[in-house]
Order: sequence, then structure tokens, then C-alpha cells
Amino acid sequence: MIPVTELIPGIFVALFGLTLGSFLNVCIQRLPAGESIFLPGSHCPKCGHPIRWYDNIPVASYLILRGRCRDCQAQISPLYPFVEILTAALLVAEFCDYGWTPEFIKWSVFSLLVLILIFTDLRDRRIPHAVTLVGLATGLLLSAWVPVDDRPLGTILSMAGYYWSGTLLSAAGAIAGALVGGGLFYAVGELFYRLRHKEGLGFGDVMLMLMAGTFLGPALTLTTIFLGSLFGTVVAVPLTLFRRRFRDYAWPYGTFLGIAALFVSLGGEALLNAYLAWTRLR
Ligand SMILES: [Zn+2]
Repeated sequence: MIPVTELIPGIFVALFGLTLGSFLNVCIQRLPAGESIFLPGSHCPKCGHPIRWYDNIPVASYLILRGRCRDCQAQISPLYPFVEILTAALLVAEFCDYGWTPEFIKWSVFSLLVLILIFTDLRDRRIPHAVTLVGLATGLLLSAWVPVDDRPLGTILSMAGYYWSGTLLSAAGAIAGALVGGGLFYAVGELFYRLRHKEGLGFGDVMLMLMAGTFLGPALTLTTIFLGSLFGTVVAVPLTLFRRRFRDYAWPYGTFLGIAALFVSLGGEALLNAYLAWTRLR
């Protein structure tokens, strides 16, 4: 049995997550088209009728309306409730990991930013700068409050005689993460371009990794790139080879990187530590 003292905050976080998920849907719909996320209010994309407040309740409204607009009966994408549930689930997972701590705030903000990019890249092949630039600034600011994983930068600096600590080291970790993420990913993009002779990665992917780097620091950023490329390969290669309709499909690399970043934010620490322990044994 989960004690009530933990269950009630968990339910609160889940409900808050559903509401935020509803807002993320607006971002996912409108940011790739360069539209405002505040005005006009939500309306049916088919008939344009404004959505009544009681039809705008996360998940519940979708179920009550059986996935159809009340006015024109047009189908509502199941992506809406899916994003709402996913957002709530991620926040609850971060809450289970961190409880009421600054880390919980940091990783929740990170999850929300990354979730938007996963779906804008999947739907529209867009990674809006509005999100990545806000994320980059937020990641740098948060590094002053929540220490960024500085491995292996801290060790390298101390070997060079610079015994940085606290906010300075944390900020250096965030900047190093951004440079490693953006820089290495830029190099991976170049390599892909030379091998395939076509544009496989956009500048959006570089921006995504720049942003993620400020939250993750260098070591976890590398883990994210590795896992994202692995996920992408495992999914894309068999489908491209064996499914005709995927032969010329432009795979959303940002979506795979985003999934990897979320995975790393929830369990990357343990994964990386296990790998480091294993390599030291060999
Ligand atoms: Zn409608």
C-alpha cells in the first residue's frame, strides 16, 4: 500500500500534468506554424467553433465526446488525450524519482520542453526555435539552482589545476553539455550528409541537443545521443528495408533524441554509472 501522504501529492501532480499536457497540445499544434499559443482560444480545426470550457477538460472530454467535435462531429485526434496522459505520467515519474525538490522542478520543465519537440518533429518535422531557445536559456538559469552533472569536466579541470566547484562548475557543466550536444550532433549530421548525400538532419536537431546539453551536462548528453541513434536505428532500419511505404520516409531524428533524453532524465544516471563501473572492471 502506498501511504496517503505520498498518494495525495502524486494525484495532485498527475492532475497538474494533465492540465499542462492540454497546454502542450496547443504548443504542438501552433508553434510549428508560427502561430500564437495564447490567442485565439481553442477551436475545432474543422468547423472553427470555439471549444466550450466543459469540452476542454483533459482526457475526460475526449471520452465523453467519444473523440468527436460537439458541433460538426469531426474526429478529434487521439494524439490529444495521449499527450495529456503522457505528460501526467512523466511528471509522476519525475515526482517518484525526486519528490518535492528543485530537481523535480528542473526535470519536469525539461520533460515538458522535450515532449513538445518530440511531437512537433513527429507531426511536422519541425523543432521550433521558440522552444529550443527558451529551453537553452532555462537550462542555463537552472544550472545556478540545481547542480548539473559535470562529469568528466570536473575531473579534467582539476587535472589542469582548476578546482572549480558549486555554481561555477555547474554552469560550466551546462555550457560543456550544450557544446558537446550541439557540436557532436552537428558532426554526426555532417557525416550522415556525406554518407547518404542527402539532408538527413536539420539545424533543429542541433538546437535540440544544445538545449538538452544545458540540462544534462556532457556525460548524459553523450548517453542521449548514443541512445537516440540506437532507438532510431532499431526502428528505422527494419521498416525502411522491409516496408515499402517507409522506403522514402523522412525519419524524425529529433523524436528519437527526445525519447532518449526523457529516458536518460529518468534513468540515465543509473545506466551511465553501471556502464562506467563495467568498463572499469574490464
Ligand atoms: Zn467542429
